[in-house]
Amino acid sequence: MAVEFPTHAEPAAAHSRGPLLQTRASAFQTAQRRFDAAADVIGLSDDARRGLREVKRELTVHFPVRRDDGSVHVYTGWRVQHNISRGPAKGGIRYHPDIDLDLVKALAMLMTWKCAAVGIPYGGSKGAVAVDPHKLSQNELEHLTRRYATEIAILIGPEKDIPAPDMGTNPQIMAWIMDTISMHQGHSVTASVTGKPVDVGGSEGRVEAPGRGATYLTLEALKYLHIDEETQTVAVQGYGQVGRSTTRLLSEAGLRIVAVSDSRGGIYNPNGLDLAALDEHRQVRGGVSGFKKADAVTNEELLELPVTVLVPAAVQDVITDHNAARIRARLITEGANAAVAPEADPILHERGIFLVPDIIANAGGVIVSYFEWVQDLQAFFWEEEEINTKLHHVITRAFYEILHTSVNKRIDMRAAAYALAVQRVANATTVRGIYP
Ligand code: NAD
Repeated sequence: MAVEFPTHAEPAAAHSRGPLLQTRASAFQTAQRRFDAAADVIGLSDDARRGLREVKRELTVHFPVRRDDGSVHVYTGWRVQHNISRGPAKGGIRYHPDIDLDLVKALAMLMTWKCAAVGIPYGGSKGAVAVDPHKLSQNELEHLTRRYATEIAILIGPEKDIPAPDMGTNPQIMAWIMDTISMHQGHSVTASVTGKPVDVGGSEGRVEAPGRGATYLTLEALKYLHIDEETQTVAVQGYGQVGRSTTRLLSEAGLRIVAVSDSRGGIYNPNGLDLAALDEHRQVRGGVSGFKKADAVTNEELLELPVTVLVPAAVQDVITDHNAARIRARLITEGANAAVAPEADPILHERGIFLVPDIIANAGGVIVSYFEWVQDLQAFFWEEEEINTKLHHVITRAFYEILHTSVNKRIDMRAAAYALAVQRVANATTVRGIYP
C-alpha cells in the first residue's frame, strides 16, 4: 500500500486533515503531510504529533556585504532547527537564489528524519542564504560566508548545531565557517562544521559519500529485486557532486551509464557513455551538452528513458503526477532531496517501480559527516577504506530495516523510512518528557 496524500494546502491541525483546496502545498506543508502520514502508520498520539510537526527554532538574518565595486548589498539568510531530541542538530547550508524560510523549514525537518532513519545521533536543521553564488567573486563569497556564519553563530557549535555543504556551498565555504566560529572562540573548533577540506579536520571520503551511499543502496536494491547488476543501464539527472560520484561508482560496479544531464540538458547513448571522454568534454565545454558520442535529450526526456536504474540527482519535484506514469525504470534511487513529489509516490508504487527514497538514498553525506564530527572530537583520523566500510555498514543496515518495515506493514519504502524515523524521534521526545 502506498500512503496517499490529499491535495490540501492548509496546515492540518494535529491529526486532522484540513479542507480540500486545489492549490499546491508549500514545501513545509508537504513535509508536514509526509510526517502526518508516518504518524498515522505508527499510530502516534496527538500530543506527540503537535511538537514534531513544527520546527523548534527559526532564525532569519539580514546582513550587509560590501561588493568588490564598493557597493553594499543586504542578503537574507536562515538557520532552522527542527528537532534536537536525539542529539545536536545537523544540516547543510544552501546558497541558492530561489529559497525561502518555508523551504528551509521543510529541509530541516527532512534532516531530523534522515538522521533518525539511518540511526545516527543527531537532530535536524538546515541553513540557507538567498544568493546565486556563481554571481559573486571569491572575495565576495568569503565575506558573505563569514558574515552569515557570524549572524548564525549563536546557534552553531559541536554540541549544538553542525552545518555541512549543500547546493551552492562546498568544502572551502565550510573552512571559512569553521575559521569564523574559531576566531570568535579564540581557538580552533574543527567539529563545528563538517564537509571541510581534509587539511582542516575534514574526513576522507566525505566529498563522494552521498554518491557512494546511493551506489551501495542501488546495488542492494538490485540484489533484492533479483536483477543482475551486470548489463543493466542507468540514467542520471544532475551531473554535480552527487550525480557524478554515483555515475562513476555505478559504472565501476559494472552498470552501463547511458544518460546524464545538467541544468543545460542531457545526453543519451544506449550503448553506454565513455565517462573519461565525457569528463574531458566537460572541462572544455563546462557542461555535458554537445558531447559528440551521444544524442541530445532534454531533462524531461531523460527521466522517461528505458533504463533499469534512474537516479534523479539534481533538484526537487522532477517526478510528479504528470510524468510518473511514463517512467520506465525498474528502480529509482532518489539522489536529490524530494526529487519525487508526494503525488507521484503512489503511482510509482502501483506500477511496481522500486524507490530508494532520498531520506536514505543520499544519507551517505550525513553519515560520513557524522564520522567527520566524531574524528574531530577525538582528534583521531581514520583511513578512507575504514570510512567506506563503516558507511556501507550503517547505510545497508538502515536499508534492510526500512525494507523489513515496508514488507511487514505493506507500505512503500518512503513511508516505511518515515515510519521508522518518526518512531525513533517520538521515542526520544517521549522518554525525555516535557521541560519543566
Ligand atoms: P550540485 O550543485 O553539485 O549539482 C547539481 C547538478 O544538477 C548540476 O549538474 C546542475 O547543473 C544540475 N541541475 C541544476 N538544476 C537542474 C535542473 N533544473 N534540471 C536538471 N539538472 C539541474 O548539487 P549536489 O550537491 O550534487 O546536490 C544535488 C541534490 O542532492 C540536492 O537535492 C541536494 O540537496 C542533495 N544532496 C547533496 C548532498 C551533498 O553532500 N552534496 C548531500 C545530500 C543531498
